[in-house]
Formats: sequence, structure tokens, C-alpha cells
Amino acid sequence: MPELPEVERARALIERAALRRRIVAVEDGDAFVCRPHGPGEISDALVGRELTAAHRRGKAMWCDTSADGPALGLHLGMAGRIVVDAAEAGDGDGRPARWDRFVLHFADGGRLVLRDKRRLGRVRLEPDLDGVGPDAATISRDALRARVGRGSAPLKARIMDQSVLAGVGNLLADETLWRARLSPLRPAGALDAGELDRLRRELRAAVRSAIREGGVHTGELIRHRRRGGHCPRCGAELRRATVGGRTTWWCPAEQR
Ligand SMILES: [Zn+2]
Repeated sequence: MPELPEVERARALIERAALRRRIVAVEDGDAFVCRPHGPGEISDALVGRELTAAHRRGKAMWCDTSADGPALGLHLGMAGRIVVDAAEAGDGDGRPARWDRFVLHFADGGRLVLRDKRRLGRVRLEPDLDGVGPDAATISRDALRARVGRGSAPLKARIMDQSVLAGVGNLLADETLWRARLSPLRPAGALDAGELDRLRRELRAAVRSAIREGGVHTGELIRHRRRGGHCPRCGAELRRATVGGRTTWWCPAEQR
């Protein structure tokens, strides 16, 4: 599932390859992905404009458009990808065109596609970001201490709450807590300032590494998250439990 690093890579791709190209047609006929907009509504708002900037907060992404046009929100959902100028779907990477849920066609013949097998991505104009907390990659030390270090919820559930801290999904949470040597089960409010600062440092490091290496699946702990898996640092057998509704793996020897 796309987490902050995957969305950042999509944002960077748009910034690098899709800005300042005139939009001449929009395929917005998937009324589920484009809800609440009806077919043609996003097209009417965007044809003739250009994308001028690409932004991200947590897993939310949006683009500014030229001539005071509306912001275009693009959410990758559970399995979405952004493709710019790839070959026609069906021959390039073997994925059929029916997974192309939303397409911008540019005047130069190129295109931007939201490709999403599971159809849980979302495209909307002027997306509402009110419920989205500060971005996990850029949150300040004081803000993280104040927002994460409170309450009785397990630490893992707290850092995955998108209104507290935006962008951390299941894999990034496990990787970060392992790097920080913190138990996912500890009540968030029981951490001291030093531990919260360590959490922030390792979170940023895990995000940087995942962006550089290609996604959250590249994390050091992630390949060991399986039955019989061992901690790649100390060799202890990993423990598994459901925390905050999600399957969680951690090193019981080091994460206390
Ligand atoms: Zn260990």
C-alpha cells in the first residue's frame, strides 16, 4: 500500500515530468474514483490549464493549476500509481487499460495516468485537508512531542493516526519503531522527550531511505516480517501481534 515514500515519489515524478504542459483532454468518467464530481466536471475545470506545482502532506497529494484554477487532488488509495508518458497501458508494464481510472492528456501527446487496480484511489478538485495532521517527514521536534506523546493508545496506533501525524502506514510504522528500539505496544503517553526525539529521528531516516530505495518495502526489518523471521540486528526471533488493527512485527529483545 502506498505510504509517505511512495506518494513522495509520485509527487516528485509529477514535479519532474508533468508540470507546465497544457491539458487538452481529461478522462474523468469513473464516477466512483472522481466522486463527488460527475463525469465531465473535472474536465471542464482543467482543460486549457497546466499543472503548476505538486504538493504532498502525508499520503495526500495535490497539484496547483494555472490561471487560478482549482487544486487537483490525487490520492493513491491502497494500490494506485501515477504514470507519466508511459506506453499505452496494456503493452508497457503489462497492466490493462481498464486500471487507468483517470487520465490527463497533454497538448504534446503525453499523459498523466492514475493507474489503480483496486480502484480505491481518489481524484477530486479542491481536496479537504482539514483532518490531515502535519507531515511525518517534516514535523518539528516540538510538534511531534506534543502530538504523539500523549494518550493511552499503543504507540504504533498513535503514529498511524493520520490526524496526529500524516503519512505513516503499517510497514513504515514497524520499520521506524524497530529502528528507534521502541515497543509498538507502549502507551504513547508514557514516552519521555528523549524517546520521542529518537522516534522522530528514526522516522525521518526511515522515510529518506525508503524514498531513495524505492518504497517502504525496502526497509531493513520488512523482509524479516514473516513467521520464523529474526531481528536483522540482534538475531532474536521477531514477535507478531495485531496492534491498532494491523499485523505488527517487532524485536522483543530490543524494542521495550
Ligand atoms: Zn533485535
